[in-house]
Amino acid sequence: MALYKSGAYLTQSDDAAFDKEYSPGTAPPHSGIYRCMGCHREVVAEEQRALPPQNHHQHTPSQGTVRWKMIVYADHSPK
Ligand SMILES: [Zn+2]
Repeated sequence: MALYKSGAYLTQSDDAAFDKEYSPGTAPPHSGIYRCMGCHREVVAEEQRALPPQNHHQHTPSQGTVRWKMIVYADHSPK
């Protein structure tokens, strides 16, 4: 579970970008924190750079395949 201290730096969003799951080794369109939906491990990923590969970590059969989902988007455009 991702943690944060100050809610002043995070905003809740319903953007569809948070719904998409990415296969290991694919390059996501957004930088941020990605969560493996099988085992709940989290990693930092940069846009257009490959997410960790299938052999990044091991799953039990019940956890299924590694699939990454963005849970926190890193905004590169200061507002
Ligand atoms: Zn996993």
